[in-house]
Amino acid sequence: MKYGYSLFIQEHVDPKDVDYDDTRLFQIVCPECKEPIFKVSRDLHEKTANYFSHYRKDETLNHQCELRVNSIPSSTVNEVSIKSRNQKLRLFLRVFQDMVWGNEFDEANIKRIKQRHYELQRSSIFSEIVVYFLKYARDFAADKQHLWEMFDETIQNKLKSNEIYNSVFAMGIQKQYAYEFLNYLVAGNSKKNFLFLLNIAFIQLYHDLKRKSKIGLLDWEDALYSCLEKFFRTKNENKRIKAFQELTSQQGISGSTGEYISGYILFGIQIFQYAFSILLRIPYLEILQKKLQDRGFRDPSISLAD
Ligand SMILES: [Zn+2]
Repeated sequence: MKYGYSLFIQEHVDPKDVDYDDTRLFQIVCPECKEPIFKVSRDLHEKTANYFSHYRKDETLNHQCELRVNSIPSSTVNEVSIKSRNQKLRLFLRVFQDMVWGNEFDEANIKRIKQRHYELQRSSIFSEIVVYFLKYARDFAADKQHLWEMFDETIQNKLKSNEIYNSVFAMGIQKQYAYEFLNYLVAGNSKKNFLFLLNIAFIQLYHDLKRKSKIGLLDWEDALYSCLEKFFRTKNENKRIKAFQELTSQQGISGSTGEYISGYILFGIQIFQYAFSILLRIPYLEILQKKLQDRGFRDPSISLAD
């Protein structure tokens, strides 16, 4: 494809203006389907053709991106290049995961959280739940106005006052980034990162409830906590399924705003609010500034002070 789109710069970029590694650094995705892409340069009749290309097609997606036309001719694809491309895709996906690890947890408890994360990653029932939520997330990502309302609810319910960016304008930038990144997370080849986001949200929900259980839980919190407690106490997948069925089959739980909802809806609302709050807290602009400095761009405030 002719142009890519940088999630960090929020602009279309020309492949001739970026280095190979920039697609990872600046999270350059397909402008159409928001999947990760990589830069290709080919020598053609004394000049070089630069373009972006998708990674291997995600077979579980039934729709085809319209921009998936400039794929590399099959003759040049050999096993080595597929291997190295998978490796590059992994590195691309790591950028988001590192931002979340770095922003959500401090050194003191990261080891314990990572252990829980890997344990959850191995649970097949957890993967099933997430794939189910992916369908909802794709609908949310496609409806910006509705998503904005959900972001506002999340800000109100889940963000602490010191995490609220200090102006409507700054918060708007955070929402825009969260929106862009959510669209990328639900795309075919990046859904591994959606799995990662929900995994972390799941753990945070459990830990918050565990902490609160020492003081006292509301009805809806208690319903969630007893399910999650059973879920994390065992490694037996059948017992985990049972714990979930107990929660999701419950009707008429008094929710956080006083209305009566099902256990299934309750769990869905909470897990998405945790996931959204993680997206809304990432210091995107700071990270971008650091990336630009690392690439040799000078901070204008430094040059003024010189
Ligand atoms: Zn695409």
